[in-house]
Amino acid sequence: MSAFTDAVADGLVGLTHVSVVSEESHFSWAPCDVCGSMLGGDREIAEAVVEGTANHVIELSICTDCTMYLANGDEPEDWRIK
Ligand SMILES: [Zn+2]
Repeated sequence: MSAFTDAVADGLVGLTHVSVVSEESHFSWAPCDVCGSMLGGDREIAEAVVEGTANHVIELSICTDCTMYLANGDEPEDWRIK
């Protein structure tokens, strides 16, 4: 575990079946919905199902670090919350 995986685990509490849906990133200064990084950067769209519901899907705006992690399990080398 690392600070990053801790932050992701916190960000995904109550959510399940997280999947990245957009391959088209857009720049944003809004904090990442998963790890909470305040660093401005590219954001991808992900979807997740709210735990305990059959199909209540919410949309998440996630940073490239989280995109890589959710897609491949790759952890960023120098992630920090800012
Ligand atoms: Zn993130």
